[in-house]
Amino acid sequence: MSDTRPNILFIMSDDHASHALSCYGSRINKTPNLDRIADGGMRFDNCFCINSICTPSRATILTGTYNHVNAVTTLSTTMDNRLQTFPKLLQENGYQTAIFGKWHLGTGPDHCPTGFDNWAVLPGQGRYHNPEFIFKGPDGGTTRTVPGYATNLITDMSLDWLKERDRCRPFCLLYHHKAPHRPWYPDEKHAQMFLNKDVPEPETLYDDYSNRASAAAAAEMRVGPHMSSTDLKCEVPTELPENELRRWAYQRYIKDYLRVVASIDDNVGRVLDYLDKEGLAENTVVIYTSDQGFFLGDHGWYDKRFMYEESLRMPFILRYPKEVKRGTLNDDIVLNVDFASLFLNLAGVPIPEDFQGRSFLPILQGNTPPDWRQAMYYRYWMHKAHHNVYAHYGIRTKRYKLIYYYADALGQAGAVDEPHAPEWELFDLQRDPRELHNVYDDPAYGDTVAELKRELHRIQAEVGDKRYAKDMD
Ligand code: CA
Repeated sequence: MSDTRPNILFIMSDDHASHALSCYGSRINKTPNLDRIADGGMRFDNCFCINSICTPSRATILTGTYNHVNAVTTLSTTMDNRLQTFPKLLQENGYQTAIFGKWHLGTGPDHCPTGFDNWAVLPGQGRYHNPEFIFKGPDGGTTRTVPGYATNLITDMSLDWLKERDRCRPFCLLYHHKAPHRPWYPDEKHAQMFLNKDVPEPETLYDDYSNRASAAAAAEMRVGPHMSSTDLKCEVPTELPENELRRWAYQRYIKDYLRVVASIDDNVGRVLDYLDKEGLAENTVVIYTSDQGFFLGDHGWYDKRFMYEESLRMPFILRYPKEVKRGTLNDDIVLNVDFASLFLNLAGVPIPEDFQGRSFLPILQGNTPPDWRQAMYYRYWMHKAHHNVYAHYGIRTKRYKLIYYYADALGQAGAVDEPHAPEWELFDLQRDPRELHNVYDDPAYGDTVAELKRELHRIQAEVGDKRYAKDMD
């Protein structure tokens, strides 16, 4: 008898912000193929990552645990591949499993992908053109350069694997793009897009970082002054006044970003077409997400790391015609730490007790559990590395966001040992959705601050993370 459990096609890109998908109302681009997933299923508007940076988010997704538990707190920490993961459990329970594309959790025998029948991954960030891939093999695999464009190649490998699969058993395929991660090299096909038109600017492109904790002004990720000639594909005219430089660099940057996104969209379309052609669409759960959000000129920035909205929010759209109504929207708070539990739940595989996330299958079926979380916990550990973003943790509810910049490396690998005085920020997202006015010291919010701090410390205790020594009640 054939196995009727659903297939899982887990598509993840790298640094694709939800405000660059047309199904999320993008003002700057169109993603017709990604929109097919949202139109055919559910769009999540409050899906958040618990640490907005590549490697830690990927470890959380695979293991279903927070970064203080899986020990992948920064870009300098690799994942121990003996940890329990959802692909291993699916494989043990009869699923065919594979990953192609971005891995970024380390290389070699102790860090290469495990729990997959087949894999081919980019070493580190990987290259856009003619990338090297590490192919499954003994001693951590073998490395070979493959001619072509990364987004096309990752798709080709995924389609080849699907075509050769055992048709009597369900599959779980992790189809993980390198794009649109910096330095945003488009392929030839999309290089001419936006050539003679300006892309609309975000409302906060000329942010001056007033009315915030000092962390915002200290960050070195401004569009223009903190970009390289590689990012912008030409010399940076540093003599321009800062706002003019931002205006100019934004156009250079965002056009390349959107061009590499267009290639993802085309390629995802190829895979969706394959599912349609093979009659697989009905019984395949298709997910599109990204490892975190990204600043698309918002607050004058590129990159991520901050707990601010554009970086915290992940796109998450899911199509599963058998169980999920077409074209539905949801605003419950779901997290990347929940994905592993969801995937196991969809496959009918028991969720290990030490997985810290919660399956949101009932939400997909239109029944949000009455005790679903009303707040989420976030922590960025990599103090001052790369873009001078201070280490912080915080809590977000539907209405508020409380952030504590403890601004200390605490011995974390890759963090810079230069502590700063801790600071708090509170945003009332209902009145200030762009997060431009820190109201932490406003007496009108005194009770709210006290309540949010209690909840923050409660969740920290619940997930087993440690509070910073100076963060007292
Ligand atoms: Ca990323």
